[in-house]
Amino acid sequence: MSKKIATKMANIQTRSRIRKMLAGSPPLTEAAKPSLAASSSIIGDMPKEKKAKMIVAPIENMLKQEVVDVEDLVKKEEPAVVNPLAAVVPAWEPPLWRRHLENIRLMRATSDAPVDTMGCSELADIAADPKVKRFQVLLSLMLSSQTKDQITAAAMERLKTSGCSIDDVLRYTEAQIEQMITPVSFYKRKAIYIRKAAAILKDRYDNDIPTTVELLCELPGVGPKMAHLVMQVAWGQVTGIAVDTHVHRISNRLGWVPKPTKNPEHTRKYLEQWMPREQWDDINKLLVGFGQQTCRAVKPKCDWCLNKEICPYGRTQK
Ligand code: SF4
Repeated sequence: MSKKIATKMANIQTRSRIRKMLAGSPPLTEAAKPSLAASSSIIGDMPKEKKAKMIVAPIENMLKQEVVDVEDLVKKEEPAVVNPLAAVVPAWEPPLWRRHLENIRLMRATSDAPVDTMGCSELADIAADPKVKRFQVLLSLMLSSQTKDQITAAAMERLKTSGCSIDDVLRYTEAQIEQMITPVSFYKRKAIYIRKAAAILKDRYDNDIPTTVELLCELPGVGPKMAHLVMQVAWGQVTGIAVDTHVHRISNRLGWVPKPTKNPEHTRKYLEQWMPREQWDDINKLLVGFGQQTCRAVKPKCDWCLNKEICPYGRTQK
């Protein structure tokens, strides 16, 4: 800002402020008049540059302060940023999923798949103490990974016959556990995980299992799919969709994911984005049984399937 303009602005602002001040002030007393006159004459005698500096600086400070205050005010009153499209563009969902699901429920009406009688929710000892029962749910899920339900059920029977509480498991050597759970997949690694998990549960959880997905996932050999199932079966809480290889495969075949997914965890994230929560509690069991009986990994029975004409994969099968 040039000195000339600054001086002019200062004069205007000062006059305006003095007018405002005087308007709100009591009338000047007789005693004050000489002092004001003296001040005016001192300012009036000053060189122009000094006068401008003296008056402009406080005014600029005042203006700066006003700007800061206004900015604060604007921030406070600024409305939240709203995406106008969010209200009119619905989230993605597979167009025919309700018909797919209805058909799957019809095909599963007899509930005679292996998962219905030998799934993890069926293997715990119902007469056992609640803590022991919850541990057995966790144990059956650890054994079931990549293992057929029949083999998992037989291994659980051997463990229950020998004693299947946390203290029992800690009494066994790894070799003894291996012997009892063979031939489940990865039985050697699982024997190590089971013993380590039992020790953690005894030390940190008072012989019980954790109450959240995050804490369950800290146990050796436990991932999100297993943790969500444990939460549902052991604690009666639906915390997410448990996606195993069956759910992953069927979701991709039916087009329940916006683009092909490479792993169950990726599929789970997509499913949880669009599937209404009221469907979450039985979707795993429903699809696992459907995958065991009809939509098998190898040679799915598309000709028999009620979804054949509305399934992107089924339509390609002759
Ligand atoms: S038509 Fe075939 S691929 Fe599609 S859901 Fe049925 S069994 Fe599975």
